[in-house]
Amino acid sequence: MQRIVILGGGESGVGTALLAKAKGYEVFVSDKGKIKNKYKNVLLNNKIDWEDEQHTEAKILNADLVMKSPGIPSTVNIIGRLIAAGVPVISEIEFASYFTDATIVGITGSNGKTTTASLTHHILKQDLNVGLAGNIGDSFAKQVLECNYANYVLEISSFQLDDIKDFKPKIAVITNITPDHLDRYNYNFDEYIASKFRIAMNQTSDDYLIYDADDDVLVSWLASHPVQSQLLPFSLVKTIKNGAYLSNETINITIDNNHISMSTKDLALEGKHNIKNAMAASTVAHLLKIRKQTIRESLENFQGVEHRLEHVLKINKVQYINDSKATNVNATYYALESMTAPTVWIVGGQDKGNNYEELFPFVNEKVKAIICLGVNNDKLLENFGNMVDVIVETQFMAEAVKIAYKIAEAGDNVLLSPACASFDLFENYEDRGRQFKDAVRNL
Ligand code: ADP
Repeated sequence: MQRIVILGGGESGVGTALLAKAKGYEVFVSDKGKIKNKYKNVLLNNKIDWEDEQHTEAKILNADLVMKSPGIPSTVNIIGRLIAAGVPVISEIEFASYFTDATIVGITGSNGKTTTASLTHHILKQDLNVGLAGNIGDSFAKQVLECNYANYVLEISSFQLDDIKDFKPKIAVITNITPDHLDRYNYNFDEYIASKFRIAMNQTSDDYLIYDADDDVLVSWLASHPVQSQLLPFSLVKTIKNGAYLSNETINITIDNNHISMSTKDLALEGKHNIKNAMAASTVAHLLKIRKQTIRESLENFQGVEHRLEHVLKINKVQYINDSKATNVNATYYALESMTAPTVWIVGGQDKGNNYEELFPFVNEKVKAIICLGVNNDKLLENFGNMVDVIVETQFMAEAVKIAYKIAEAGDNVLLSPACASFDLFENYEDRGRQFKDAVRNL
């Protein structure tokens, strides 16, 4: 009997444990932190051996195979010991992919993964039997075990890609690459880019790579690191022969002379970045032969994803927008770009080495007041202090929203788009977004 040790007892760890047990492995789950009760119960109910708040080496180093959860850096001690002992260490998507013949659409990138994956799934599910997994909802492993979908749309982080060996999506999407999570990549941008491109490393000329041709990082990497995959670029500014492009507010997609077009005026989601996400998602759908009318209708009625430019409420003709998921500057760039009215901007949190310069034109043009919501707001004050008439600080969401309410006038927007991580004041970005929405509803 093969012994699999699973490091990390969260969604992907417990999903892997269930799948591995069903496939006849001897399973042991070990988590250095505390395993949530909900997951402990699953392990207990399924008679899976586990430990938490420790790694017992004697029970780990004897593994035939190790699944490392994406949250665990490869630099931790136990991984070093495993690698030295020659034990293969893989990720959940790698393991789960051994047990399915489904067609896999893998979506990665620095921003837009969840939106693009959800939108793609929304279109495909109209005509196909398709699951949505990865960083969203139930783990891929659990769905492979329980649902047996013929197709999967997977949102895939670079951490999952770091530990693949044979994983190969039929269709890969890279939405964009901007510096993020560099702490896990030796502060080396190239290592992070290389990690994202692992999504295509096992692809052959029968597979597809869809990517943003306006992203210089992507384009220049591809020029010096060619892939086997058939390339399907998308662009807002260039004409693309095979792939997708925009002209006169129309998205045009051509794949092997098969053409589809749709108006961006009918898109449910706003902002240029969402035109890109729509292009990527519809290119996938077009490849998988979804009917053109179905693609158009799905783009029109997609409801969006919580915490991503989510329209909360309109109060006294002021629109309140929750973009709590904007945890880096690039995401906030697109949020500010999409603002079509004077904006009161709530920003701040845990800085990730942010460079705010690319936001300056939008702030000058659109932002009438800034509310800094972080433990340390010095960098925001330094960067934007001279750019707007009103800039204030607070450490409470309810207060931030009340100040915004006082400043905003009919026709304005109030936008929460922090450009920072949330951990200084909130549990996570969801908590931050929910607190914002609660505060807005209490106005
Ligand atoms: P991810 O899953 O990669 O974090 P999300 O879809 O959750 O991406 O979006 C994260 C943030 O980035 C949100 O603020 C969203 O508005 C913004 N965003 C969405 N799509 C894009 C894109 N294509 N380029 C840049 N920013 C984007």
